[in-house]
Amino acid sequence: MKHLVMLGAGHAHVHMLSTLAAQPLAGVQITLVAPYPRQLYSGMVPGFVAGHYALEDCVINLAPWLAHSGVQWLQRSAVALDADARTVTLDDGSLMAFDLLSVNTGAVQNREKIEQMMPGAREHALFVRPIEAFGALWPQVVALAGTKALRVAVLGGGAAGIELACAVAHRLPSSSVTLVAGDALVGANYSDKVQARIKRALKKRHISVIQEQATGISVAEVALGNGGQLACDVPLMAIGAQAPSWLQGSALALDKQGFIAVDEFQRSTSHPAVFAAGDVSSRVDRPVARSGVYAVRAGVPLAANLRAVLTGEEPNPYIPQTKTLNLLACGEKYAIASWGGWSAEGKWVWWLKDRIDRGFIQKYSGPAQP
Ligand SMILES: Cc1cc2nc3c(=O)[nH]c(=O)nc-3n(C[C@H](O)[C@H](O)[C@H](O)COP(=O)(O)OP(=O)(O)OC[C@H]3O[C@@H](n4cnc5c(N)ncnc54)[C@H](O)[C@@H]3O)c2cc1C
Repeated sequence: MKHLVMLGAGHAHVHMLSTLAAQPLAGVQITLVAPYPRQLYSGMVPGFVAGHYALEDCVINLAPWLAHSGVQWLQRSAVALDADARTVTLDDGSLMAFDLLSVNTGAVQNREKIEQMMPGAREHALFVRPIEAFGALWPQVVALAGTKALRVAVLGGGAAGIELACAVAHRLPSSSVTLVAGDALVGANYSDKVQARIKRALKKRHISVIQEQATGISVAEVALGNGGQLACDVPLMAIGAQAPSWLQGSALALDKQGFIAVDEFQRSTSHPAVFAAGDVSSRVDRPVARSGVYAVRAGVPLAANLRAVLTGEEPNPYIPQTKTLNLLACGEKYAIASWGGWSAEGKWVWWLKDRIDRGFIQKYSGPAQP
């Protein structure tokens, strides 16, 4: 019997589980290695921080899928991989052998790298990843804000940093929020028009922007590259989507940043028995952004290609779309939309985002009952 090991319950693997529940794979042993019994949907996390959602609104529970898919769940994390020997090392030290491996473990905030850039970060910062840990800690910040006005510094001027800064400003109106954006412009990946919208949104919500690198974090301050000190009670770390360090030494071909290099089949360019999708992977033929949208979309071709390989068929190439609808939550029920060069904003954009996000959770709430 062949053994398929699925590492991580990321977006693509949630879809894979749903296809297995609909149509189990006979003659294949399938193990899912994932540290939590659920997947927390990051797209709704800013809405959770803003107070629009309870944490339970933002999760996909794996149990209903596992019950119907014949997949065995192992509550563990991978800590090493040997693609040549076809083994994964788990966090209890055990080795798991595979015939076929699929990796969907996402990107990480590499504590060591961030600590080198910002000494003190590991001890004092509130990291947004793993999102499960952040989801458990955020209510403590809200409780603390009930006792005194907090000075919150959101570190990172990308989409997550912008959304979180707006969400914090909305949730904690008597606290101050500063976005420490580093050298790059806030929302640097967006068009000039969208950047202007973001700037206005931040200004309207009284969020100060500091265009300096954070160089260190201590108990009540963030040190800045220009020598300044920013008084801060809660440094919220929203930078970095780094490759997991356990991929180093795996023998897999990795891109320059250390993500798994995959081809048009979402298959490792060096090891045909390894597939990868979502943030942990890097398409060498047509690079795509690391985003939930692409991770979700990769689920359908990944599931089809794993099934094909296991049943002796040829996998099919997958062409990711070049443009995606991007929806940026702005704290209160208001959002900015962009699609290529087009952009818009308003309450209706939030309404649309809410509908799409809740629809996603609903879609994966469990197999349809006969
Ligand atoms: C605050 C925030 C808001 C965001 N909002 C958006 C948005 O609105 N739209 C958008 O497109 N993108 C958004 N993103 C980006 C988005 O989160 C990621 O691009 C997306 O989660 C990637 O999906 P994935 O399936 O690759 O991995 P993930 O969603 O990260 O899932 C990986 C899973 O693997 C598990 N795992 C991790 N390590 C291991 C291991 N070693 N062994 C086993 N399992 C492991 C994790 O527990 C997790 O369940 C946001 C990110 C953040 C931080």
